Amino acid sequence: MTLVPIIDHGLLNIALQVQHQSVDWAPLTGRGIELIVRRDDEIDLSLSGNKFYKLFFSIKPAITNNAIPVASFGGAYSNHLYALAAAGARFGFSTVGFVRGERPQHLSPTLRYCVEQGMRLEFLSRSIYRENASAPTPSFVAHWQEQFAHLLFIAEGGAGVAAAQGASYIARATELALNGQFDYLAVAVGTGTTLAGLATGLATSKMVLGVSVLKGSGDLAGKVNDLVVSQTPVSCVQGANYRLIEGFHAGGYAKKLPQRLIKQWREFETQTGILLDPVYTLKLVVALGDLAQLGYFKKNERIVMVHSGGLQGRCGFESVIDW
Ligand SMILES: *Cc1c(COP(=O)(O)O)cnc(C)c1O
Repeated sequence: MTLVPIIDHGLLNIALQVQHQSVDWAPLTGRGIELIVRRDDEIDLSLSGNKFYKLFFSIKPAITNNAIPVASFGGAYSNHLYALAAAGARFGFSTVGFVRGERPQHLSPTLRYCVEQGMRLEFLSRSIYRENASAPTPSFVAHWQEQFAHLLFIAEGGAGVAAAQGASYIARATELALNGQFDYLAVAVGTGTTLAGLATGLATSKMVLGVSVLKGSGDLAGKVNDLVVSQTPVSCVQGANYRLIEGFHAGGYAKKLPQRLIKQWREFETQTGILLDPVYTLKLVVALGDLAQLGYFKKNERIVMVHSGGLQGRCGFESVIDW
């Protein structure tokens, strides 16, 4: 699939090209529950998954207004910075990545890739990072706009209203592609932006399940609700067509995965031929299996799992795990 020229295509047209793949995965199909994987990971090699949808409207001004530079925030393994760096290289705008913590002696594979794409990395102390990552202060913005004229800021993880709007196209495309014939749309949750977008793009008779992969993510439910409400002209009852499921974080972003997850990771990939990333999609798959075991789904229900990409996150993990 080619994204060029991205802005000549509507986002819905791109979203409609994504495959929905019916897979056989024992914890679900063994119980008569159907699993369909929506392969948003295949949109593009580097600008893939939900990050593509989330960036679509946020970077449009950078592409159309004489390539103004774009900055955002993330950690050393951020899928968001990775996608932003790729987008900058692809569409000809410069990018600045504000990275949490001191510059390490060796850059992570993710940050090395960002540099190769021409992203300028600026390392921020944890306190300065925390002060600015979700909403940069006016003095922070002014300081960096002196160095990069018109620098456009996107919040950490690409969170925000424009991003939720982009993500809503995933749900719209699934509705059209499957003719409305499914019961759940399931997605891994970081900032909750994608979940909010899916909830606003989906028919109200269906349910979006968002599985949170973070530990102690603050008032995540409140943030999701705010985003949903911001997209919905009429007042919206919280949780009307989405549910946020917590408790499947397996220690948050931490690198050490419990043995049970590693086993399920390998099993899923061998049974379905679809690769997962350790931070997001693996935890989603594990959660779906556990929920099925708990009797959460009914027989013959159809779950569409959004493969939100993030496969670059396998780098660094693969050397740790003895397959
Ligand atoms: C960023 C990311 C998510 C979470 O998206 P949010 O909109 O922040 O909730 C899920 N899956 C993958 C692979 C991601 O990279």
